[in-house]
Amino acid sequence: MDSTVSTKSLLELVAQWCRENVKAKDVDEAEEIAQLVGRQVAGVVAQVSIGELDEKDTAPASRIDCECGRRAEYKVKRARGIATLCGPVTVVRAYYYCPHCKRGYTPWDRRQGLDQHQWTASVKALVAEVAGCLTYQETVRLLKRTCDLGVQVRSAEQIVQQVGVRLRAQQSAVRSQVMAGEAVPFIGPPPDRFYIGMDAGKALIDEQWHDVKVGALWTSKPGRDGLDTCDRTWYTAAQEKAEGFGERVYAQAVQCGANQAGERIVIGDGADWIWNLADEHWPEATQIVDYFHACEHIHDLAKVHYGEGNENGKRWAKEHCDRLKEAGPDGLLRALRRMKPHTEAQREAVRLQLHYFTNHRPRMMYHEFRARRLMIGSGPVEAACKTVIGCRLKRAGMRWSRDGADAVLAIRCEVLNQDYDHIAIASKLAA
Ligand SMILES: [Zn+2]
Repeated sequence: MDSTVSTKSLLELVAQWCRENVKAKDVDEAEEIAQLVGRQVAGVVAQVSIGELDEKDTAPASRIDCECGRRAEYKVKRARGIATLCGPVTVVRAYYYCPHCKRGYTPWDRRQGLDQHQWTASVKALVAEVAGCLTYQETVRLLKRTCDLGVQVRSAEQIVQQVGVRLRAQQSAVRSQVMAGEAVPFIGPPPDRFYIGMDAGKALIDEQWHDVKVGALWTSKPGRDGLDTCDRTWYTAAQEKAEGFGERVYAQAVQCGANQAGERIVIGDGADWIWNLADEHWPEATQIVDYFHACEHIHDLAKVHYGEGNENGKRWAKEHCDRLKEAGPDGLLRALRRMKPHTEAQREAVRLQLHYFTNHRPRMMYHEFRARRLMIGSGPVEAACKTVIGCRLKRAGMRWSRDGADAVLAIRCEVLNQDYDHIAIASKLAA
């Protein structure tokens, strides 16, 4: 369509029509009328253009291939309603019937990405995107208010479920390619450094608190203090075992250009699964225990050893957190060995932390990491669980089914990654 010419004449008509018909008393009313007229005009455009689309598209074939291997016959033109971004539209399209296996077909629906539900692919994509950010209640209210889109909560849930399942299928397909060593397109240009952070958060799924694993991937740029700071961040999340999650994060990292980066850095807390995955998928990467997680361990020990809220304990913890950052863990390890615990709880706490800091010593050489201008944690890893899980899955009173949580997680990560085209494709595939 030659949009400049045709809309120009339309706009002139509209302007003329407004001069004759619209008498708004103030700005508010003018906005309200403008929106109302705009929606009605959009509705006409949608009805007419979609209506013509189906006429042209479906007239010819008298027979089409059936899934049973034989031929389905053209029967009749059938009408159906669809819900578009611009309101309800009625379409008339060819209906085929296979006398051999008694299956009915409407190929036009399939070509348009429509299934038995009334929503167009664009409506589904919009609902999925918004529901990736807001609760279902908020989603339907916001879409009603801003787009006059009448979607029920139950429908929004169904749409999210469908789109989420398809997103997971897309991701599995790419993951298989990556794990088979096939080349997949990646987002360029290759970064100098590529960070991989992993963590786990909890969500109430099937009436129990379950671990949901979250991966945060990011490229860096020099920050104000000279150390690296986040540039672009991607997320991935799922409730699954470490092995599958490792492949998920690896495949996502490959697509984000991790393999082309100058160096790779893995950041996590003390959990073994993270370091096992790091060894498996990025054996040459620099491994760093998230500095803030390490500090939590120091504060926890201080509470047990000095008592909750004790000033000496707080001072001791702060000193050692600072020393850990400036000089690495050796000073802390010496201090832990010199400690004289009095109670069984204190003895156990010292033993646990000695083990933790000895075990992760090479991952806590923060002075060396800082000299290389590496990030030592914070930001993405710390925020990942809150951003991905907390903000959407852990709001007041929320409980999830496993499938429901997984669909929302899949969509939420795509929204956070701004991979809207993935959502659009997942919304369009015919059922
Ligand atoms: Zn058939």
